[in-house]
Amino acid sequence: MRAVPVAALWLAACAAPAVPPPSPPSLSPAPAAPPTLAYTLARSLSTEVGPRLAGSANDARAVAWATRTLAELGFASVRAEPVAVPVWRRVKENATLTTGGVTSPLTITALGWSVSGDVSADVVEVGAHADIASLPEGSLRGKIVFCNVHTDRAVDGAGYGRAVGVRAGCPREAETRGAVAALVRSVGTDATDAPHTGSMRQNGARIPGAALSAVAADRLHAALLAGPTRVTLSVVTATGPDAISANVVAEIRGTRAPDEIVVVGAHLDSWDLGRGAVDDGAGVGIVVAAARAFLRAPPERTLRVVLFAAEENSLAGAKAYAATHAGELDRHVAALELDAGTGRVVELRARAGGPVTLPTVPGVVSSREPAEGGADLIPLRAAGVPVFDARQDMSTYFDIHHTQRDTPDQLREPDLAQATGAVVELLRFVTAASSPFARLPAEERARPSHETLRPTVPTVRPP
Ligand code: ZN
Ligand code: ZN
Repeated sequence: MRAVPVAALWLAACAAPAVPPPSPPSLSPAPAAPPTLAYTLARSLSTEVGPRLAGSANDARAVAWATRTLAELGFASVRAEPVAVPVWRRVKENATLTTGGVTSPLTITALGWSVSGDVSADVVEVGAHADIASLPEGSLRGKIVFCNVHTDRAVDGAGYGRAVGVRAGCPREAETRGAVAALVRSVGTDATDAPHTGSMRQNGARIPGAALSAVAADRLHAALLAGPTRVTLSVVTATGPDAISANVVAEIRGTRAPDEIVVVGAHLDSWDLGRGAVDDGAGVGIVVAAARAFLRAPPERTLRVVLFAAEENSLAGAKAYAATHAGELDRHVAALELDAGTGRVVELRARAGGPVTLPTVPGVVSSREPAEGGADLIPLRAAGVPVFDARQDMSTYFDIHHTQRDTPDQLREPDLAQATGAVVELLRFVTAASSPFARLPAEERARPSHETLRPTVPTVRPP
């Protein structure tokens, strides 16, 4: 076809009737705002790097991603501080349930640091791992113990805090009474067939430990109500010599008190299931985006971003940070960590040696309850560093936490943007406060361990 010159088309348009026909409604959406930085970063880390179990090849890629990204954003003093991390990985896992002469698959995932094992045994259910302690020694010999503790849904995540002790406690108590394996109802608030992993490292148990999905736990519970039930499971895991990972650190030098340091952190590693988008890609996105807001108007104290290594498998990054910076911990005036997913910030808290009047942030409660500080801040808190919390809405966090469903599509951009804004306000306050906050007194330096919290469901089904 002969080409029609553009000018001819323009003249034809000019010859059209003076009153144009009404144009059809536009189907194209309004121009989208550019993605916010927190979302872009969380998505980038969880898409381009993906799962990054401490010590894995992907963990090294995450360190490279973080150092490159922080430098490109304009941070100074970007560095990867080496951390020796213990290495554990899952190889394979499967289980079947046999009841009434019928065998069917049961969805499990090995808990972090579980040993390998092939086991087939009758199952005994207990409602809480602490209740196993009331059973006589040897009473579980040759059995598989099933700890069936539900996790309550709560905005502040308190249900997780009450239930999580079962993850390490159940295998430990079961082993000491002769059990050959431990199955734990996933510490999560969903009702799906996706099991939640997590560490059972604290207990040193030498029997296989695995989490059942909520669906699998309910099926096993129902089978046990109906009659004797046998589970056959195979867990293969591997450990290796320590690997070298890194805490990735960047900072913005303070204008008035550059020797006084405010740490804002998140953890760079993740579990191997899913892609670590909400745990803790979201936290990485929030803290880097919030700190970047200070590049144009530097803070009065030095603001230091720390992306911690190996939070999930050992807290090795947190311990290494405190050791590497032992000589300046007395000049750490405040620390906060974001490690609670993609939800809005709903509450600010502080924990110092004296009263702190928190800033007013629209839509956010300034609470008088003491801050906890994130898991990576435990060694800083032990050194007396005041900690702050920007507490997020965690009502849906434990639906996908530590599962294959922790993927970038779970990130909620508006909430990440709001959380970033709230963290900027909190950082502005702590970096500009006229005098340093009082150090934590001795009795406030230990953070209560989830291990010391007793699970809530007291039912026992004795053997
Ligand atoms: Zn986690
Ligand atoms: Zn986390």
